[in-house]
Amino acid sequence: MILETFPVGPLACNCTLLGDPETGEAIVIDPGDEVGRIHRRLTEHGLKLKQILVTHAHIDHVGGALRLKQLTGAPILLNENDLPLLKMMDQQAGWLGIETPETAPPDESLVDGLLVGLKHYPAQVLHTPGHTQGSVCLHFAPLKLLVAGDTLFAGSIGRTDLAGGDGEQIIDSIHSRLLRLPDETRVLSGHGPATTIGAERRSNPFLRTR
Ligand SMILES: [Zn+2]
Repeated sequence: MILETFPVGPLACNCTLLGDPETGEAIVIDPGDEVGRIHRRLTEHGLKLKQILVTHAHIDHVGGALRLKQLTGAPILLNENDLPLLKMMDQQAGWLGIETPETAPPDESLVDGLLVGLKHYPAQVLHTPGHTQGSVCLHFAPLKLLVAGDTLFAGSIGRTDLAGGDGEQIIDSIHSRLLRLPDETRVLSGHGPATTIGAERRSNPFLRTR
């Protein structure tokens, strides 16, 4: 298995590449920027991109998705509840003072319960609204791995003061969907270091209220 996570773009969004050398297939999660670099990694590993998965439609996570699709032909999957955010790309670029990336509607919605990923490394979509209305986490149960987007961070949670954010809802999503996962589940967050469900259950100050 090939599993690489590296920060891309000015906000250092963690982009994850998961590949299966046996089948030669790969998925990329959150190609926010630096598409040339992501594409080069795929080529170097000799992997064919099967899916582009986007945890939510903030510019730092979705910004490079269409370019990666144009380079590889892989479909883009994003939860439909984030379509309003996708249409606000000009505004989002304005917040950061960067050029508006070209975007397009997703090929398929990452609806709750959908199975995505690779044959040997499937993931289940967990719809976890709160950071945005279409935020999802991807649970690779056989790998004991959760790709959490901006819903859960090491010692923190996603901000809810941007368009579509809801502070009560994100806490609800984390308790009802994420903290039910086994303690040993490794969590790759949208920004910053990796953590585990157990560590966040024990010590995340935002999750102590219940
Ligand atoms: Zn975000």
